[in-house]
Amino acid sequence: MPVPVFPSKRAPIYQDIPDEKWNDWRWQLSHRLNSLSEIEQVLELSESERIALGQKGLFRVDVTPYFISLMDPKDPNDPVRRQVIPTDKEMSAFTGMMEDSLAEDAHSPVPGLVHRYPDRALMLVTTQCGSYCRYCTRGRIVGDPMATFSREEMDAQIDYLERTPQIRDVLLSGGDPLVLAPKLLEELLTRLRAIPHIEIVRIGSRVPVFMPMRITDELCDMLAQFHPLWLNIHVNHPNEITAELAQACDKLSRAGIPLGNQSVLLAGINDCVNIQRKLVQDLVRIRVRPYYLYICDLVEGVGHFRTPVAKGVEIIEGLRGHTSGFAVPTFVVDAPGGGGKIPVMPNYQISASDHKVVLRNYEGFISTYEEPLDYQPHDSSTCEYCQHPRVEGGQTGVLGLLEGKQMSIKPQGFDHTHMRSEQTHRLRQDGNKWKPLGIGDGEDEPK
Ligand SMILES: *Cc1c(COP(=O)(O)O)cnc(C)c1O
Repeated sequence: MPVPVFPSKRAPIYQDIPDEKWNDWRWQLSHRLNSLSEIEQVLELSESERIALGQKGLFRVDVTPYFISLMDPKDPNDPVRRQVIPTDKEMSAFTGMMEDSLAEDAHSPVPGLVHRYPDRALMLVTTQCGSYCRYCTRGRIVGDPMATFSREEMDAQIDYLERTPQIRDVLLSGGDPLVLAPKLLEELLTRLRAIPHIEIVRIGSRVPVFMPMRITDELCDMLAQFHPLWLNIHVNHPNEITAELAQACDKLSRAGIPLGNQSVLLAGINDCVNIQRKLVQDLVRIRVRPYYLYICDLVEGVGHFRTPVAKGVEIIEGLRGHTSGFAVPTFVVDAPGGGGKIPVMPNYQISASDHKVVLRNYEGFISTYEEPLDYQPHDSSTCEYCQHPRVEGGQTGVLGLLEGKQMSIKPQGFDHTHMRSEQTHRLRQDGNKWKPLGIGDGEDEPK
């Protein structure tokens, strides 16, 4: 089997560690570096890093020997290093920063379970990770062992899922679900699989990136019992793609688990079209499909990682058409205040009249699509799917949660779930004329 050649690295201090230890995830976990004195044995620390590592009470630092080996020991701007080694910039507060910027707590019917979308829910199953990202959106809870969810909370989460039949997709995140004790993870997956309306389970994990040796044959066999199971990893820079990560992804793929990648757009790390192109091309070589590219959230202490939204649009523009279509992620802004993920993309539609749509391609070539004159709109009165929509009535569950909770960016009484379908509907009924709708416009429309 032709395996692409990606590097395999070990920092000099680990050269004499026997392979059995290096390749054992328990060894990697128990030898994580977290203090200034340990980290300076591997990296030549900058003054800014020294100040930050000398502080107590910043959110947790922990780096696996494997991951620190990917860093340039002499370069404080190394893109892998910047992701997990703190600097003193992290200590500054920024106006507009929020502790819980996505209002996840406000959308939690039970602690640790976020139900923001009609048919899927996010389950925060642990606060622990393999290593800790400096730009973490859940820095408010992650890494704090006191904030770990108890068994009673897990029971309450499962109980909510059991009595909420519109949820067909459960996303396990945290923290990192793959650092859970294997027995506990298996029990959790077993309990989820026992709920008939849960069709798919997804795991969001950076363990394959921080500690690829955790992806053992036993783990893959265990996970494969729970199909359909999907997994998203989190790689931000091509330097994170190694022989070890390629092998971990190969094992997961062979276990039948479709792999995606979620990246965060980070100033000084990957805010560059050429880096992103190499990243997505290397990801598809290891059979990982780029899924989302996120804007950096408005979280305390991460202001120095933020980029303008336009940078993300420029990157997508530099990927679409220029490389394999399935290598292009969706750029999303997770709306502050709990609005959810909003895709932002280059505009390829220049104009639209009644019968013509004028478009440009990735090279700037302009063309016109003539619209049909005789289009018979879909007849929903005879369509079985329209007459019996899967989520009928289900959306009130979400709205019920929103009501009486903090709705900072939404006008009072604004029914956003309803508006979304109204909007799609109206665009179709208007003979495909593009008519931008303002917030609340849907409300006075005839039903
Ligand atoms: C991201 C997210 C999901 C999943 O969204 P998809 O677009 O389906 O990947 C679900 N719930 C919450 C709260 C999320 O933040």
